[in-house]
Amino acid sequence: MPELPEVETIRRGLGKFVLNKKIVRIEQRCEKSYIANGLSAEGAIITGLRRRGKALLIDLDNNVTMMVHLRMTGQLIYRLIEFGASSGKAGLGGQFAAGHPSENFVAELPNGQTRVFFEFENGFLYFNDQRKFGFIKLMPTVEVEQDKFIAELGPEPWAMKDEELLAKCQRHKKAPIKAVLLNQKVIAGLGNIYADEALFYASVHPERQAGSLTPEEVSLILEGARTVMDASINSGGSTMATYVRADGTRGDYLEKFAQVFRREGKPCPRCGEEVVKLRVAGRGTHICPCCQVNK
Ligand SMILES: [Zn+2]
Repeated sequence: MPELPEVETIRRGLGKFVLNKKIVRIEQRCEKSYIANGLSAEGAIITGLRRRGKALLIDLDNNVTMMVHLRMTGQLIYRLIEFGASSGKAGLGGQFAAGHPSENFVAELPNGQTRVFFEFENGFLYFNDQRKFGFIKLMPTVEVEQDKFIAELGPEPWAMKDEELLAKCQRHKKAPIKAVLLNQKVIAGLGNIYADEALFYASVHPERQAGSLTPEEVSLILEGARTVMDASINSGGSTMATYVRADGTRGDYLEKFAQVFRREGKPCPRCGEEVVKLRVAGRGTHICPCCQVNK
């Protein structure tokens, strides 16, 4: 579930804890979740955190980069050894937790879903992944751009020009626009949530053939993608801060920005019509049938 805004939130939040810190020890608990490729991260200092699409790139001072893919249920949780010792840190009690929202955010760690963890001088970074589709892969930093996933990735919504998306819609003209938006080679980082929200923003039905869209509609979709992703990044994405409300109850980060996603049966914020759920490109899809007419 974590999408581009969640990974960007992790990059920013985790950076405050691990940047310029040394990885003292690594404990691997699941073989497929940590692919070392004969390289090592032990003893290395983290020199930078970058993001490409939904991949988090953690650069080390030994010219190795750790590529993190959270996929469906991955989480990264950093806990200071001395809880609450320093104020002004993200999360509760001096910790930062983000990714697939679950009770792990507040549970004792490591637990049965911890696949690998990193010991630092002042804390622990846990990679939890219930379904094990996510992974951390080590590679020489100079080879990151040649990695198959990175090399095939389309531009991010902020770096893409309207004409470029329009040209790609023409290239996939028979495909429903939602499928085109989910294609990471077309545009990087748009998953199910933000594709639905961008299409609602632009008042475009997800089943419209990409080739039938006007330049104005394509431009609005791109603007919508940027707008909803910015809103999500600013709200903290699926981090512990949005999962656990100030009063201790469980919150839903979607409520901070989602207009249609997972709001079936609720009124459209624009016209009041009931939001409905469809299946498009094999994915649960949410629309307002009044604002998003299939022309
Ligand atoms: Zn509506």
